[in-house]
Amino acid sequence: MTHSSCTLITGGADGIGWATAQHLARQGQAVALLDLRADLARQRAQELGSHHLGVGCDVTDEASVQAAMAQVLQHYVRMEGLVNNAGIGDQTGATVDQDVAAFDRVLSVHLRGCFLMSQAVGQHMLGQARHDKAGRGAIVNLGSIASLTGLPMRNAYSAAKAGIVGMTRAMASEWARCGIRVNAVAPGYVRTALVAALAEQGALDMGAIAQRTPLGRMAEPDEIAEVIAFLLSPQASYITGAVLPVDGGWTAFGGTQASLSVAN
Ligand code: NDP
Repeated sequence: MTHSSCTLITGGADGIGWATAQHLARQGQAVALLDLRADLARQRAQELGSHHLGVGCDVTDEASVQAAMAQVLQHYVRMEGLVNNAGIGDQTGATVDQDVAAFDRVLSVHLRGCFLMSQAVGQHMLGQARHDKAGRGAIVNLGSIASLTGLPMRNAYSAAKAGIVGMTRAMASEWARCGIRVNAVAPGYVRTALVAALAEQGALDMGAIAQRTPLGRMAEPDEIAEVIAFLLSPQASYITGAVLPVDGGWTAFGGTQASLSVAN
């Protein structure tokens, strides 16, 4: 059965992507979850209801992206939104010891993935009718505090997330007159599987992160989902090319650790 429109979410079976799917579904929107784990994506879509879709997809693979797009188009006519969320953490360590294949893989998932999905969905959006404030569609990319600041021992991830900012601005500028808005969110540390894996590697100290964050804690996935949903919505109709930190004040803060507690 074909439904009218959907928002595609890559990496939608877990973490921030799954929180975003639930958020949009609660608002009455249909979502297509694209994830490496096809079974989990389908299971998650079923949890949301019968008009949502779960599809197996490797965003780094052009054929896989095309096949996923074909599946989505069997179910929906219009693509209202795209959330380029699929991501992996890096193998943290000294740049001089960095494994080249691991470097390439991180760049591929984040940058090639964002490019391939945006290209495929953008092509479809350009051909669909332009609605008043919604235009032809909206895209939100997942940046990070690594897009805006330097994180030692996380060279590949930092390069990938800075690249996301460049791609966001380029696509936003290219498609603005066509009625497609493109923005990025730049979250701080969010309590998801990706962060848990880094903590297990000893690459993240959760207590130190909470202390370094002006708001004094990590984010919950739904706090990022809320902002992604806003940027996709007609309420954000005059925002394009923006990179919005959702980081508890991390990138705003330039003082000493002690200065954070002065006001308490
Ligand atoms: P999770 O690991 O919780 O979820 C990411 C999802 O993406 C997983 O289901 C994963 O599948 C999937 N995925 C990975 N590679 C691919 C691929 N090639 N094709 C399709 N799907 C893929 O991550 P988060 O929710 O934490 O992160 C989501 C995004 O937010 C990422 O881009 C991340 O960089 C960004 N971000 C996260 C922050 C955080 O603190 N968590 C902070 C700032 C940004 P599988 O599990 O099988 O690998």
